[in-house]
Amino acid sequence: MEIAVHPGLASLDQGYLFEQIAEEITAFQKEHPLSRLISLGIGDVTRPLTPVVAEALAAAAAEMATESGMHGYGPAAGYPFLRKAIAESYSGLACSIAPEEVAVTSGGKEALGAVLSLFDPAIPVWVCEPAYPAYRDCAGCAGHPVQALPCRVEDGFLPKPEAVTEPGIIILCSPNNPTGAVLTAADWQMWVSFAIKSGSLLLTDSAYAAYCTDPMLPHSVYAIPGADRCAIEIGSFSKSDGFTGLRCGWVVLPRACVCACAPAQERQPLLRHWMRWLGCHSNGVSYPVQRAAEAALSPIGLQQREKALRIYRRNAASLEQFFTAAGLPHTGGSHAPYLWVQCPNGDSWGWFRMLLATCGVIVTPGAGFGAAGEGWMRFSAFGRPEDTAEALRRMEPIFRRSTREENE
Ligand code: PLP
Repeated sequence: MEIAVHPGLASLDQGYLFEQIAEEITAFQKEHPLSRLISLGIGDVTRPLTPVVAEALAAAAAEMATESGMHGYGPAAGYPFLRKAIAESYSGLACSIAPEEVAVTSGGKEALGAVLSLFDPAIPVWVCEPAYPAYRDCAGCAGHPVQALPCRVEDGFLPKPEAVTEPGIIILCSPNNPTGAVLTAADWQMWVSFAIKSGSLLLTDSAYAAYCTDPMLPHSVYAIPGADRCAIEIGSFSKSDGFTGLRCGWVVLPRACVCACAPAQERQPLLRHWMRWLGCHSNGVSYPVQRAAEAALSPIGLQQREKALRIYRRNAASLEQFFTAAGLPHTGGSHAPYLWVQCPNGDSWGWFRMLLATCGVIVTPGAGFGAAGEGWMRFSAFGRPEDTAEALRRMEPIFRRSTREENE
C-alpha cells in the first residue's frame, strides 16, 4: 500500500512566500555576515506587549500555580469571559453578536484553515488577487477549487461582485493585506446583498481593523444589516495587540448563518457544525493567553494599544511621504500598516533582491501575493521608527525621482 497525502495539500504550488523570503535572506546574510539588514518585509509587530496585557498574563500564570487557581483543559471554543469580551467589542453594530457565536482560536491563520475545512470541498473559494497567501493555501489544503477575484489598480484594488460567476465562499479582507485597500459601508453593503442573493458565504478577515482611523469606515461586516445571515468573520489580536507570539484570535459564526452552499435538506445553523468541529480538533487556547486577550479588550487595554498603533501609523506616514516624493504610484498606509508600491520598471523579486543587495533592506515582492501582485512590492510599517527612518535614508538614492527618471 502506498500512503498518499491529501490531494489538496499535494496541489499547493512552491513554498510559502515568507519561507522563501527567509531562505534568500539567510543565504545573503551568510555571504555578508557584517551587513545589518532592516526588515520592511514580513508583517510581524515589533512593539512590546502593553503593560496591562503582560500583567494579566503573569497574574494568570501565578493563579495557575495555586491549588485553587489551576486550570487544565479549557473549553474548546474559549472561556466564557473572553467570548463575552469579544462579543461586546461588536456592540452597537447592525448585527448584535452573542458570546455563544464567538469561538476563541490560537490566531487568525489557524481560524482560517479551520473554517475552510467545514465545507464541502467541491465548493469554490473566491480569493482576491493579490491577497494574503494563506487564503489560497488554506483553501487548497482543504481541497477547494480556488477562483481568482481580481483587484485592479483602477478599482483601488477592491474586488467586484461581478467577477464571482458561481456561488461559493468569498474571502474579503479590509483593511487589506497587502494593498491597504479599505471597503466602505457601500462596498460592504454590495457584498452582503450579493452573498444573500447568490447563496454565497462571505469569509471576512478583520485582522487589521484596529488600523482603520476613519469612523465612517466599518470595522466589521456586521455593521451591515443582514451580514449575520451570510458572513463568518475571523479576528486576531496579533496586529492590534502584539500577539503574534502569544497566539490568540477568534471566529464569529452567527446563529442566523445557515450553510447556504449545502443541499436544501442539509440547511442547519453552521454554528452547530463549527462547534462540533472544534470539539474534536481543539482543547482550547491556554488560560493565561485568554486572560491576556481579555485585558487587551478592557478600556485600559484599548488605551494602551493606541500607543503602539500610533508608532506604526507614524512609520506608515513616513513611508507614504517618501513614495509620494519619489513620484511612485502607491496605495495603503492610511488605514493599514502596509504601503503597496509599484516597482519602477522591473519585476518584484528583482526589486526585492536589488534592495537587499544594495541597501540591506528587506521588502516583500508583490508576486508572492499572487500573479496580480507582480510589478508591486509591499513595505511594512511594523519596524522600529529608527529602523524605518534608516531604511528610507538608505533607499533614497535609489528611489530619488531624478535618478529614476534618468534610468527610465
Ligand atoms: N489575516 C491577515 C490578512 C494577515 O495578514 C495575517 C497575518 O499576517 C493573519 C490573518 C493571521 O494572523 P494571526 O494568525 O497571527 O492571527
